[in-house]
Amino acid sequence: MTLALGCIADDYTGASDLANTLTRCGLRTVQTIGVPSDDLKLPEIDAVVVSLKSRSIAAADAVAKSCAAEKWMRSRGAEHVLFKICSTFDSTDAGNIGPVMDALRAESGDAVVLVTPAFPETGRTVYQGNLFVGAVPLNESPLKDHPLNPMHDSNLVRVLTRQSKTAIGLVDLAAVARGPEAVRGRLADLAKQGVGAAIIDAVFDRDLETIGTVAIGHKLSVGASGIGLGLARALVASGRVTASTGVDTGNAVGGPAACLAGSCSQATLGQIARAEQVMPVLHLDPEQVIAGSDETQRALAWATERIGKGPVLIASSSTPDQVAALQARHGRDAAGHAIERAMADLAEGLVQAGVRRLVVAGGETSGAAVDRLGIPGFLVGAEIAAGVPVLRAVGAREGDMLLALKSGNFGGPDFFSDALRLMP
Ligand code: ADP
Repeated sequence: MTLALGCIADDYTGASDLANTLTRCGLRTVQTIGVPSDDLKLPEIDAVVVSLKSRSIAAADAVAKSCAAEKWMRSRGAEHVLFKICSTFDSTDAGNIGPVMDALRAESGDAVVLVTPAFPETGRTVYQGNLFVGAVPLNESPLKDHPLNPMHDSNLVRVLTRQSKTAIGLVDLAAVARGPEAVRGRLADLAKQGVGAAIIDAVFDRDLETIGTVAIGHKLSVGASGIGLGLARALVASGRVTASTGVDTGNAVGGPAACLAGSCSQATLGQIARAEQVMPVLHLDPEQVIAGSDETQRALAWATERIGKGPVLIASSSTPDQVAALQARHGRDAAGHAIERAMADLAEGLVQAGVRRLVVAGGETSGAAVDRLGIPGFLVGAEIAAGVPVLRAVGAREGDMLLALKSGNFGGPDFFSDALRLMP
């Protein structure tokens, strides 16, 4: 198997977003959790997104992890590697975008690396090297107050210059608008000036397509899901990848199905109420969960009795005033972590009881469940709702499994039934 595209994402949710974008463009894509083991068996795919948590760790660690991911991808034949960063360029003068880019560039041998966080469909555009978040420059957006990476400069040429050892140039929109040849010409000029990486402007999807067409001729690029979209479209347009429509996540898995809800968002509360009409629903007592009593054992016994007959839902979710009261009694983190741990226990217990189709509502809740199940990766399938695809576990201890992982506000009113319908 030869990978057309290998991606290294610096956080999990960014990785999911990219994997979903690539799948929508017709690339058969696997998202892995961390750098996979050398013996991980992959299905026939076009792209891999390795999810790291390297955005806000020490630069040297981010470099080591990213280089390990790159080595793994190249060993699987990846022709192009995208280092996926946040579309708001989250970083500090200490890194980690510059140091990781420098290390990957040294491995790739590319003269000039193309860099852009532009993703117009989410309001991220770059003009004259300045990143806009909607209508305002980055340094006037809420990112100026980010707790970990406050962004005080919208000029990415300057931002990246402070982080990188190489000289940083600009490919402006005028060159991008003239098409791939003009961009290549500008890059050749920059290379002669000793520039090693260039911020490239993009305001519309067509700009991303031009960038993708040029970038697939390189070995490395840096950017957000927007450049992923450009690369994917270029791979399909060049015939290097045959676009799959409605990526098939393989055979039906069958067997018992269950849903877990730890999100307390309004959307999830509504979806739980709708699920009550079509499946048995158990509401955990959050106070008992935090007290460490046998609430999870009781829930597992309840589920085990029922899963032979059809799907069930177990929810910790409460209304905002109940959540606030619980947090006031126990502290927000302590309450959240205790419930996440209980949800991970439940995911593990349900799978031990035979569940092979699992729907989880809540971002943190999903992370806790997936970590506990030790699933190395997922083949990304059809979207149940915008941004929520069906996932088929790859290399899981338990063998074949289908999952849906939804963050709070996603999905329509019948999300749980919609998900199970696409997870045979
Ligand atoms: P979302 O995607 O909606 O943000 P998350 O799973 O990311 O959902 O976050 C929900 C958080 O609330 C988790 O830490 C979860 O453990 C916690 N939680 C779940 N149920 C309750 C509850 N009844 N009271 C307080 N916190 C809860």
